[in-house]
Amino acid sequence: MAASKSHAMAESIADPGRLPVASLGGVGPALADALARLGLHRVQDLWFHLPLRYEDRTHLMPLEDLRPGMRVQVAGVVEAVEKAYRYRPQLKVMIGNGAMHTLLLRFFHFNRAQAEQLRAGLRLLCYGEVRQGAGGLEMVHPQYQRLDENAQVVLEERLSPVYPTTEGLGQKRLGGVIAKALQLLPDEAELELIPLSLCAQHGLTSLREALLYVHRPPPDARVDQLTQGRHPAQQRLAFEELLTQHMSLKRLRAAVRERRAPVLGGSGDLRQRWLESLPFRLTGAQQRVSREVTADMAQPRPMLRLVQGDVGSGKTAVACSASLSAVEAGYQVALMAPTELLAEQHLRNFRHWLEPLNIPVEWLAGKQQGKARQLAMRRVAEGAPVVIGTHALMQEGVEFARLGLVIVDEQHRFGVQQRLALRDKGLEGELVPHQLVLTATPIPRTLAMSAYADLDMSAIDELPPGRTPVQTIAVSNARRMDVIERIHAACVEGRQAYWVCTLIEESEQLRAQAAEAAHAELTHALADCRVGLIHGRMKPKEKLAVMDAFKAGELAVLVATTVIEVGVDVPNASLMVIENSERLGLAQLHQLRGRVGRGALASNCVLLYQPPLGQLARERLQVMRETNDGFRIAEKDLELRGPGEVLGTRQTGQLSFRMADLARDAHLLPAVQHVGEQMLAQHAERAGRLIERWIGGAARYAHA
Ligand code: ADP
Ligand code: MG
Repeated sequence: MAASKSHAMAESIADPGRLPVASLGGVGPALADALARLGLHRVQDLWFHLPLRYEDRTHLMPLEDLRPGMRVQVAGVVEAVEKAYRYRPQLKVMIGNGAMHTLLLRFFHFNRAQAEQLRAGLRLLCYGEVRQGAGGLEMVHPQYQRLDENAQVVLEERLSPVYPTTEGLGQKRLGGVIAKALQLLPDEAELELIPLSLCAQHGLTSLREALLYVHRPPPDARVDQLTQGRHPAQQRLAFEELLTQHMSLKRLRAAVRERRAPVLGGSGDLRQRWLESLPFRLTGAQQRVSREVTADMAQPRPMLRLVQGDVGSGKTAVACSASLSAVEAGYQVALMAPTELLAEQHLRNFRHWLEPLNIPVEWLAGKQQGKARQLAMRRVAEGAPVVIGTHALMQEGVEFARLGLVIVDEQHRFGVQQRLALRDKGLEGELVPHQLVLTATPIPRTLAMSAYADLDMSAIDELPPGRTPVQTIAVSNARRMDVIERIHAACVEGRQAYWVCTLIEESEQLRAQAAEAAHAELTHALADCRVGLIHGRMKPKEKLAVMDAFKAGELAVLVATTVIEVGVDVPNASLMVIENSERLGLAQLHQLRGRVGRGALASNCVLLYQPPLGQLARERLQVMRETNDGFRIAEKDLELRGPGEVLGTRQTGQLSFRMADLARDAHLLPAVQHVGEQMLAQHAERAGRLIERWIGGAARYAHA
């Protein structure tokens, strides 16, 4: 005990990065707590807590030189203050320079003291982003301070870093602690974990200098370059971060691959009987991917395979084929989807396909309560062969008897942690289930290599025959009546249409309201057609009934929120209108549009937009008009929005880089892979320390 303690001490002295933050002067329990909330426990965590951006308070921008988009510091005298109420209370403060140049400061959150303090004649120093408002330039919620009448404005000497922080911990205090931690930075040779020969080979510059530069850029640093993360110091750190992430995924993969999985290879009779019952033949691509999956599952090591296939490429059939291999071998299959609607659809497909083969299909979803849920859980525990559901499948208390295969549909909604949680359900003895991940969002290669280094890839790169590409047009909302007219004509001809309401509002209730309003409008305008409505606030049963009616052709038009975004399959629907399409990202537009063009009918998609269109929205709609190719759209999406959005990881937090940006830094990836392989093979101990340094607590998944 004593020996190991003194060993730890000795290690800390050798490596100051491992000291707890509380060992820094001035860090008491309260501050240490706040730091812990940011995941900052040790001195090295502070070294690698990197600025999000920089503020330039080294000079004042004259009001007459302001342009929208600038983040700047300005000074001015309050000329007018107005409390207004438009949707919500706001405080408007006009400042000016005495020469007709003004800037509006707009506050939505303010207290009375603040409102009273801001009086005409007061001098203010403000920092914020300049935006084009309806009546001129403005700053929303600028940082500001009062300036005494004749006081000189004190300008900063360096760019001010802005760190990610938490409530109750201001930038000044956080910056102060980080500065103290930086004083303990060891010399170059000790800090560097990438072997010197590899550094030299790839032209990697000094890590120590890079860290010091990004934390305290010199006065002559270029803000634009730093803001974009393209400074060599930042690129050096981005390299190391990408390397760390790559190695940790590879290690995760290796750890899982060391485990044993059930060998699920049988005669394939069951699969053959199912194939013969299908009304279609699998496409060449479906056959090839199914073979890859079958071969993986026949191995005693867990499969970790990602199947990419554009919307409508027939991933469900590939999932079913894999399921039958597991069932034939006497193991259970769990199929998990991100929404209840999609899970229900899988349920119906699978029941339709499997019940004739005497294979029951079990259902487990979040909204299911009481007895039904308990019975379902019992059957699962007793070995029900196929279980379909939502995230509820991962919840505590769900036990499987012999889980052999886990299928995750629309993977971009799930994070690494979630993948692992389900895998852990299979810890029967030491057998780990095989894992098949399906995604309809094609992932550009560079991104896939890095973000999914723990998975093998297959692509269904062929659509079933007889599909006709969707014709897409963009139409201003001013011509809404023409569009409705057109739907009417189509419905009279027996076609079916989706009308998709989109609202960026985060509340399901507001989204439902918008859909209800559109439903009323269309019901009125299309008096001789039946118009249905589906949204996320309806009960699962109601949703199911509406989907059934639409599928059966009883409804001509289905007004829907984006609940239909993923996976919904009604082949006869050949017309889609997407409202407010300018607000949606490419991936989402592509997903939505994928709901049509599934049958032999020529399909159309109308992107209704609210003018005027911004540059980005214009480009997106242009891409949608030009191509139906999911891969091209994904590449373009990556270019326009960046990888966090492309992977949909905002919600899952799977990929949150401190410095790296996969779109911007993709050129680093080949070197990252090379260095990663070398380090994992020859410098495993250093690799481990590097992962710990950058990922810290999250790295425990590497041992899962
Ligand atoms: P996705 O890849 O988007 O999940 P689905 O699995 O929902 O696609 O399949 C889309 C539609 O294509 C379904 O109606 C399905 O029955 C049909 N389908 C799948 N494979 C084929 C095929 N080989 N030939 C014809 N139709 C197919
Ligand atoms: Mg699907």
